Amino acid sequence: AHLDSVQALEPTLHSFISVTADQALAQAQQIDEKIAAGDEIGPLAGIPVGIKDNLCTRGIRTTCASKFLEHFVPPYESTATQRLAEAGAICIGKTNLDEFAMGSSTENSAFQLTANPWDPARVPGGSSGGSAAAVASGECAIALGSDTGGSIRQPAAFCGVVGLKPTYGLVSRYGLVAFASSLDQIGPFGRTVEDAAILLQAVAGHDPKDSTSLKVEIPDYTQCFKPSLKGRRIGVIQETLGEGIDPAVETAVAAAVKQLQELGAEVKTISCPQFRYGVSAYYIIAPSEASANLARYDGVKYGLRSEQSSLLSMYAKTRAEGFGPEVKRRIMIGTYALSAGYYDAYYLKAQKVRTLIKQDFERAFGEVDVLVSPTAPTTAFKAGDVDDPLSLYLLDLMTIPVNLAGLPGMSLPCGFDASGLPIGLQLIGNVLREDLLFEVGHAYE
Ligand code: GLN
Repeated sequence: AHLDSVQALEPTLHSFISVTADQALAQAQQIDEKIAAGDEIGPLAGIPVGIKDNLCTRGIRTTCASKFLEHFVPPYESTATQRLAEAGAICIGKTNLDEFAMGSSTENSAFQLTANPWDPARVPGGSSGGSAAAVASGECAIALGSDTGGSIRQPAAFCGVVGLKPTYGLVSRYGLVAFASSLDQIGPFGRTVEDAAILLQAVAGHDPKDSTSLKVEIPDYTQCFKPSLKGRRIGVIQETLGEGIDPAVETAVAAAVKQLQELGAEVKTISCPQFRYGVSAYYIIAPSEASANLARYDGVKYGLRSEQSSLLSMYAKTRAEGFGPEVKRRIMIGTYALSAGYYDAYYLKAQKVRTLIKQDFERAFGEVDVLVSPTAPTTAFKAGDVDDPLSLYLLDLMTIPVNLAGLPGMSLPCGFDASGLPIGLQLIGNVLREDLLFEVGHAYE
């Protein structure tokens, strides 16, 4: 049934770069056989999932929406997708994204534009726009994305679904094509908080193949739902409301906060004064890490190779032809910020700002259990409407601080604007308090 939806909707949506119908049907067949034989089946048995195309899938093309990796077939499987397969989930395809996950609208994909299911003239958000659109439209039940500066939460908000970026280190990054390694996290999309919780449950937990993976007990996330929020302290981040925020977004978030109060939560306003420096620090740190990570695409080790007479000109031509404009911009910014003489002024300074933002959160979590903000300052915009990179970067102001501090953040739907476009509410928790995000989110939805 989901493959039928994919077939019917793809000509409009373009959520998927690859659809793996044959493998999916074969896997479904195997699960049927297991059931018939009375064998044990996993908690996600038969559930169709979409996988962002920057997660390596053995034998299945993994492109990162880049011309560079257009024909790259990984010889190994990412831990997250491996765990999904072990849980019985069926991968129905690889979803579209901004090239190497750099962007906020999926318009930076080298292959296709993904449409927002609520209005195909609009973007689905990004960079995990394909996963968000596929879940919102019913092409798949759940999906995995990655979030370096908002790439799960913002598309979830634009497409009216639930999306969660876990605590840094909760989900193994093994097999996730690296963008900015100190910020990248894999996380779930679902149409409900419960679906997102079930998906996170399947992929979370220690993995010796990722040295930043946390060795912690994973709670049963589906056991943290409660009907009332009595005793919970919720803080509204003052700096994320007011100037620059779409009034419809502000109204919807205010209504959501009121509802949280009616559910029994104690609500107060919290100031995070360093928040406004998040975007500036991120757009030094993320491109710096990206410039180092993307050095591996040299025409020798992976993907594209443009033939040239000398080694140096082969490197240059391959990179010139393989990367799109946004990726090149990030490599240039990162290389500049890391170069001798500029390192202290830019990279080191940005790392200090990162610490200050972290301290804002530490203070806040001394007073409240969960922080609340809009996920994005606007609803989904029309494709082509935000075309200068700086304006796009500025739209990340609410999601980025969460990555800089390594905290869990979730976006869930909290209403619509006058054009009927979904609005996202962001919940932020302290380190490893995904359970609280699920508790509050589930009580609210
Ligand atoms: N929009 C941000 C960027 O372009 C975030 C991307 C992401 O989280 N992968 O870098």
